Parts: sequence; structure tokens; C-alpha cells
Amino acid sequence: MTYSDYRKAFKQLKSKPVKMQKYIKHNAPKQRKHGRSTKKCRRCGRPGGYIRKYGLGLCRTCFRETAISLGFKKYS
Ligand SMILES: [Zn+2]
Repeated sequence: MTYSDYRKAFKQLKSKPVKMQKYIKHNAPKQRKHGRSTKKCRRCGRPGGYIRKYGLGLCRTCFRETAISLGFKKYS
């Protein structure tokens, strides 16, 4: 599970606290310092098409949607 959230199963496991603890122990994603999974869009969480330039921290889709309000101007 790299993209999908492991917390999705919490809803089902809420009534079984012991199983929930076991699930968390064995399925929580490893905390990473670097790599692709550390860079995610801060608006939608998409890992691909990440733009770090100018400190944006957005994916390409969110950049397209918010570029004008951020002050970017399209010349072509
Ligand atoms: Zn995004």
C-alpha cells in the first residue's frame, strides 16, 4: 500500500480493539526521510507530478487550477 491509506480499515476494526492494535503494528507505513513517498501534493495528496520549484509543493493538476490566483501568468 503505497498510495492508498492504511487507515481505511480503521472503520471496520473499531469494534475490535485488540485486532486494531495488531493491524496498526503490522500495517502502518514506515516513516521515511526521503524518496517519492515523502513528497506529496499539500492540496490533494497526489504523489505524482509534484512541483517543488518556487516552494510550491503542489501537483501539476493543483498548480493548473490555482496558478492564476497564485500570481502566475500564461504568456503563450
Ligand atoms: Zn494536488
